[in-house]
Amino acid sequence: MNLVLLGAPGAGKGTQAAVIKQKTGMYILSTGNLLREAVKAGTELGNRVKGLLDSGSLVPDELVIQLVDEKLKSSECANGVIFDGFPRTVKQAEKLDELTKIDKVLVFDVPDDAIVERMSLRRTCPDCQSTYHLKVLPTKIEGICDKCGGKLYTRSDDEPAVVRHRLDVYHEQTEPIINYYRASGRVVTVDGTQAPDKVSEDTLSAVEAVL
Ligand code: AMP
Repeated sequence: MNLVLLGAPGAGKGTQAAVIKQKTGMYILSTGNLLREAVKAGTELGNRVKGLLDSGSLVPDELVIQLVDEKLKSSECANGVIFDGFPRTVKQAEKLDELTKIDKVLVFDVPDDAIVERMSLRRTCPDCQSTYHLKVLPTKIEGICDKCGGKLYTRSDDEPAVVRHRLDVYHEQTEPIINYYRASGRVVTVDGTQAPDKVSEDTLSAVEAVL
């Protein structure tokens, strides 16, 4: 089984991807994480995309499609994949349907104003990429990742001005994908404004329906 998680930046895709992984053992394929790793490692790809990531604009379709195509060939993906942050354009969604079968698309619905507030309180682990929220999902020890002990940081693209640009990009380029998937009856909407436990419960029942 393969799942796509859709929703604005900060809608909870990463958090819920981890919940689904824990339950099913599926592999999380996050293009954002792969791109950030490339930037950190200073690879040719990383140097090419750094400015786009910092400004919150999308990386060209061809580059991310190639990244996903390569990753899908690895054995890690054999037990199913949770796509987080991919696809982000209709072209990527069409290409993904050529590369593999997508069984279900979970759309996490959160209004823009709530996203901007949420992102200013989001903290990320640079080592395992887990995300936390200072109020709603705090770590046990302040500033330290519960999972791996990494020292949390605020992503530069989580600053309010960049978040607003990322939301514009989401509405213009990514939201049309929902209708693309709706046409083939694959969409389940989850109310992402609920408490994290309730969002996880709704997410897992949507996933269990296709298991
Ligand atoms: P994310 O961690 O998913 O919020 O992604 C962070 C940034 O990586 C985005 O703002 C884009 O610059 C880039 N990115 C991640 N995934 C994609 C994608 N599927 N297509 C284009 N750009 C992407």
